[in-house]
Amino acid sequence: MDPTIEAVEGDITTQRLDAIVNAANSSLLGGGGVDGAIHAAAGPALLRECRELRAGRYRDGLPVGEAVATGAGDLPARWVIHTVGPNRHRGQTDPALLAACFTHSLDVATELGAGSIAFPAISAGVYGWDADEVARVAVDAVRGRVDGGEPVPGLIRFVLFGQRVHDAFRAALQA
Ligand code: ADP
Repeated sequence: MDPTIEAVEGDITTQRLDAIVNAANSSLLGGGGVDGAIHAAAGPALLRECRELRAGRYRDGLPVGEAVATGAGDLPARWVIHTVGPNRHRGQTDPALLAACFTHSLDVATELGAGSIAFPAISAGVYGWDADEVARVAVDAVRGRVDGGEPVPGLIRFVLFGQRVHDAFRAALQA
């Protein structure tokens, strides 16, 4: 059965879904924006797990476009999937890198057995991408997975901060 793909305006940290995606930076040690909000709401257990990843598999940081899961600390979700969006201010303008954030996060969610996942507008904040482009890339990436017959969570929800970004995702979903 086709998954439900929807866009809502809200705060991703309050989502009661299996997995929420964090627009992290490659240090995995927290930052501003949605990353800061997720760490603040999840509490120290999340930072502890991220530090362990940095001490082990991601000694050099999480590369742009890759995704890795941790527990969710005090959040109502079960897992946080951390992915690093491309930073336009560093010349990272390839939409394929942004698409990879969405597809790799879906892969990680599927491996975990997550039935539902929430995405923020990765790279649409500090990393400087236009919200309309993020929305188009995100929706195309998710639909590409579904149309390709790949297993994905049954509920895929974009959780957007502010009406402007919400409108961008609604338009992309209607296109
Ligand atoms: P990036 O560095 O990938 O651009 P940001 O966190 O700066 O990430 O911004 C990504 C998007 O997340 C922006 O649209 C921003 O407004 C939004 N955002 C910030 N806090 C939250 C939150 N608590 N829930 C959902 N979206 C959020």
